[in-house]
Formats: sequence, C-alpha cells, structure tokens
Amino acid sequence: MITETYTEKIHRAVALFKNSNYVVSFTGAGISTESGIPDFRSPDSGLWQGADPMETASIFGFKKNPQNFYNWVRPLAKTTMDAQPNLAHMALARLEQIGYLKSIITQNIDMLHTRAGNKTVHELHGHMREATCISCFSVFDGEPILLQFIEDGIVPHCPNCQGVIKPNVILFGEQLPIQVFQAAQKATRESDLMIIIGSSLEVAPASDIPLLATYTGAKLIIINLEPTMADNKADVVINTRAAQALPDIVWQLENS
Ligand code: NAD
Repeated sequence: MITETYTEKIHRAVALFKNSNYVVSFTGAGISTESGIPDFRSPDSGLWQGADPMETASIFGFKKNPQNFYNWVRPLAKTTMDAQPNLAHMALARLEQIGYLKSIITQNIDMLHTRAGNKTVHELHGHMREATCISCFSVFDGEPILLQFIEDGIVPHCPNCQGVIKPNVILFGEQLPIQVFQAAQKATRESDLMIIIGSSLEVAPASDIPLLATYTGAKLIIINLEPTMADNKADVVINTRAAQALPDIVWQLENS
C-alpha cells in the first residue's frame, strides 16, 4: 500500500477547495487546544477529572447544584476569557475573507472564531457573551458576570428575581438553539465541501451535521489528531495539528 504524504494530502485538500463553490467548516474543541483551552476527549485534557459530565454539566445537575457546576467551570471560564485565537482560527478567518469559506458551524463556546474575524458563525452550543436567569429569563451581558464569578467564586443571581444566572451555553439535556441549528443545516445542505476540524464527532445532535453533508453530496476534509467515525466517508483525512494544516492550506490557495 502506498502511503500518501502530508504534502500530498494538503495538495488534494487545496484542489477540493478550488473545485468547490460552497465550503462550510465544522469545528470542535480541538481547534482551540492550541489557544490553551483543553478539549473534552483528548487523553490528559483533565476537563472531566473528578467530574461526572452528566451530573456536573447537565441542565439537571445545574438546577440541582449550581455551585457544583460553577466550581467545575471556573478554571475553564478563566482560560477561555484569557485565550487568543490561534493560527487555525486565523486561517479560517482568512479563508472567509478571500471568498473560499461561506460559514463556520462550531460546537465551541469560546467565541474564538468571531474574535479571529469570521463573520458567519453558527454557534450550536451557545457562547459566553450572554447569560440568562433560569427563573425569569432576563438576559445579561455574560462577560462581567463570568469575570465577577472567576474573581469571587459566588454563584451569580438575578438582580430582578434572585434566580440563578446561567451562561448561554448548552448543557447536556438541553435543546440546541433551534434557529442556529436550522441555519447550520441549511448551510450544510448548500455546501459541496465541508472541512471538519478538531472534533471527535461524538456529541449528538451536532455530530449529525457532517453526516448530513455527506447525504447531500458534499465532499469532506477532516483535520483531527485522532481518527473519527467519519474518516471512512472523507475524501482527505489529515491527522496533524490544525494550527499547522490550516495555514498550509491557505498558503497553497493564495500562492499556487
Ligand atoms: P472533543 O473533545 O470530543 O474532541 C476534540 C478532538 O480534537 C479530538 O478528537 C482530538 O484528537 C482533536 N484535537 C485536539 N487538539 C487538536 C489539534 N491541535 N489539532 C487537531 N485536532 C485536535 O471535542 P468536540 O467534538 O468539540 O466535542 C466536545 C464538546 O465539548 C463540544 O460540545 C463543545 O461544545 C465542548 N467544548 C468546547 C470547548 C471550547 O469551546 N473550546 C472546549 C471543551 C469542550
């Protein structure tokens, strides 16, 4: 069997971009690890150490014991607030600027795609820009609330009704924001190429998006350190760091 080199894979990915009319990217926590934010499933990420995800990061767990959720999320919130977009985020922003990328569908809550400059970003699992009272549904600017919590460790409460305030991130057991999900599905159906970056593709229903892309005839490029369940459906699989592979693709697109 002849093994394709990294450079050959990059060239094939670039050719797919050049032959496509509507490219969408699907991203997960792996694109942000090089910004210092741990993902969920890489060995040693530490994010679930001593925590049961279904207990700690579910809406049921949140309502039962918000302090437990906030204690768990505190270091992650601090890391996220301090994080900067890395070369992979910048490469996606550049792809949009030069007309090679229509939109990003992301599972990330870290807002690094918008901070890198991407204009069309479907945030399937929410974001930290806003927070909502789970009793009266008043909406607040998320950043000052999180910064205050990082500082004092006290669970934030609503100034209107004293209910608990929750960041606008989707916890296990919650529905995805329907309008965002529908917009992501529409973009996926229109796409003829999807580039998947840094996702284990194990969190449903978000992980249905790449499958929808293949059902509607789009080609797939996957950039991920580990194998995924969609590798056998992909046209190119690049098991390299996103912050290396994406800038290499952009460089080739702009210089060849
Ligand atoms: P995941 O943790 O399940 O999988 C991440 C994948 O990225 C792994 O397969 C890993 O091999 C790969 N990876 C890690 N570093 C990489 C790199 N530098 N380059 C290329 N690949 C790399 O992530 P997921 O599929 O997004 O699912 C996790 C869930 O956790 C999502 O729902 C997401 O909302 C949430 N989450 C978000 C953040 C964030 O916003 N940055 C961080 C942690 C978890």
